[in-house]
Amino acid sequence: MIEKNYRGRFAPSPTGLLHFGSLVAAVGSYLDAKFNQGKWLVRIEDIDFQREVPGAVSEFLFVLESLGMEWDEEVVFQSRRLEAYQKALDRLEKQNLIYPCTCSRKEISDSSIIGLGGPIYPGTCLKNPSLSDKACSLRIQTNQNEIQFQDILKGPYTQKLRREIGDFVLRRADGIYAYQLAVVVDDAEQGITHVVRGADLLDSTPRQIFLQRSLGYSTPRYMHLPVVTNAAGEKLSKQTNAEPIDIANALPQLVKALCFLGQKPPAVILEGDIPSFWQWARENWQVNLIPR
Ligand SMILES: [Zn+2]
Repeated sequence: MIEKNYRGRFAPSPTGLLHFGSLVAAVGSYLDAKFNQGKWLVRIEDIDFQREVPGAVSEFLFVLESLGMEWDEEVVFQSRRLEAYQKALDRLEKQNLIYPCTCSRKEISDSSIIGLGGPIYPGTCLKNPSLSDKACSLRIQTNQNEIQFQDILKGPYTQKLRREIGDFVLRRADGIYAYQLAVVVDDAEQGITHVVRGADLLDSTPRQIFLQRSLGYSTPRYMHLPVVTNAAGEKLSKQTNAEPIDIANALPQLVKALCFLGQKPPAVILEGDIPSFWQWARENWQVNLIPR
């Protein structure tokens, strides 16, 4: 059965070149959107410009085009949407959910227990607001409520933010908006109905749902794909020296990504071209074959 008015997205950070791990996320989100006759949008998550690799954005888009992955609608750049993030932050501030934090990284790790996303902030600056005017980050106050959602592949997932994550940062002391805030604002404003991405982001999802609810946004459906690891069991990334996708050798890499997602293309697909690869892949996409 087809999901109506499906809007999906692929949202890479330009902190390195497109490697096989990001290709799998791109192929999975693209095929799920196309199978459902929906739109597939590309968003460049370049909010943390200090980590950006020069030239990576144009290279990303060039590689996607060379792989025959066409996006619908204009590419969105987070670096150009700071006003929207500030507006959302203002709305949270009006609900008294935001407080300034002047703690250093060391102070936090000295006094914290470790949660899913690193040290759990003990709420020092909420209990004792700092009067100093040194640069501060802005945190959102979490609560005891359980956040639950149904992942399309992984099934039910539950988290208590206060206990497992703690009050988290929405704007860093250097003025950079946090990924969690930016992604929620963008998904809502782009009308995203389905988020298909790597399972390394599974434990971020409750934070995003918490922000969606606080901002009055609806929550998309989530599908977290298996993450590609290297021989040492590490997630492929720039840090683990993942090799960039070689477009001179595009078809075998697309087939490999499709097989990683559990699909079963016929061997002759390697003798065809990229358009016929996509035609087969979109017609035969089966979510229930994806490894959980
Ligand atoms: Zn603090």
